Amino acid sequence: MEKKLTVDKAKIEGKRVLVRVDYNVPLEGTRVADDTRIRGSLPTVRHLLERGARPILVSHLGRPDGKVVESLRMDPVVKRAGELLGRPVRKAPGCIESEVQGMARAMKEGDVLFLENVRFYAGEEEGDPKFAGQLAALAEAYVNDAFGACHRPHASVVGVTRHLSSSAGLLLKKEIEYARCIFESGETPFAAVLGGAKVSDKIPILESLIETVDSFLIGGAMAYTFLRARGVDVGASRVEEACLETAARILEKCEAGNVRALLPVDHVVARSPKDTAGMQTVTDIPAGWMGCDIGPQTAALYEGELARSRMVILNGPMGVFENPKFAQGTKRIVRAMAESQGVTIVGGGDSVHAVETFGAAERMSHISTGGGAFLEMLAHRTLPGIEALAGA
Ligand code: ADP
Ligand code: MG
Repeated sequence: MEKKLTVDKAKIEGKRVLVRVDYNVPLEGTRVADDTRIRGSLPTVRHLLERGARPILVSHLGRPDGKVVESLRMDPVVKRAGELLGRPVRKAPGCIESEVQGMARAMKEGDVLFLENVRFYAGEEEGDPKFAGQLAALAEAYVNDAFGACHRPHASVVGVTRHLSSSAGLLLKKEIEYARCIFESGETPFAAVLGGAKVSDKIPILESLIETVDSFLIGGAMAYTFLRARGVDVGASRVEEACLETAARILEKCEAGNVRALLPVDHVVARSPKDTAGMQTVTDIPAGWMGCDIGPQTAALYEGELARSRMVILNGPMGVFENPKFAQGTKRIVRAMAESQGVTIVGGGDSVHAVETFGAAERMSHISTGGGAFLEMLAHRTLPGIEALAGA
């Protein structure tokens, strides 16, 4: 990935700056239930204000699909952002109308303007060049601070960069630095811990990382498709039949490329994740039983691998960690990462949730804010929204 211009190096003094943020936050009625994403972009907004720029913030919220949906107006988000910034912010009634253009032009130093939900306009998700031009007309420069939206070639993510000088915000800057670190630092040994539910989601990631890592530590439900592909009996564990051939091919590729692909050697099994009566730890899964977590021998094996690694990424929990009975494997992996002297990176909604649940978030080098965008970045090594920014 090419180096990108970042906001701290961009010429934005005195300019109106369109800032794409990811304020797609959970709402409870008219209240923001979790303001983590709003807090995440505050350093960029403050940075712009300190340098005399006039930030015009734009985000999507939910899936209004190109129409105005009353319950998805940005008002609760604007209110919370104003509280966190400690200054009054104004909300525009739309994104591109002449009234909004007038509000933007009337901004003075210290003002912050918020646009309405950008997905109220069909042109956003279509990446319509005309809509992108109208959005861009509000401002004199563009900053992208929405890593979580960078995998989408939408008007406010990619289209506007054709009209405005563009740079990465401080939050996006950190995400780009760690993405470059994953693929370009050459730090070894490099271990990728991959788990979670669906193999089909993770295959592009495995294929992309095979060139870069020294070992894959595979757990979660996806492990059972790989074990099955090696001819191991996995009882009633989740297997994606359609992925068996690909799984076998990936294991062959690992062998040919000297990448160690470690699979679980023991398992915590139950009748189902919900029916835990008689749950047990086994090395061979009996018929009718389902693997719900990696067992203690596997955890010890993976801990050993992590202890000697200089670079570790985690995507996907090792078991059904939402149930404390099946959380031990994920917890041990997360703790081993927390103790690592190397670079440790976590991404994916459930993985981040697991790390937070186990109180280890502060001890990781980087927790990605991207969710789906992080997975796409691992698979493609870059994202359309990042590619569109000016080079450094
Ligand atoms: P992330 O959001 O970090 O990318 P995923 O969405 O891929 O992670 O996977 C998370 C889900 O995988 C969790 O809901 C977890 O319960 C489930 N899971 C993990 N291990 C198993 C298993 N052995 N059987 C069934 N589901 C599993
Ligand atoms: Mg998930």
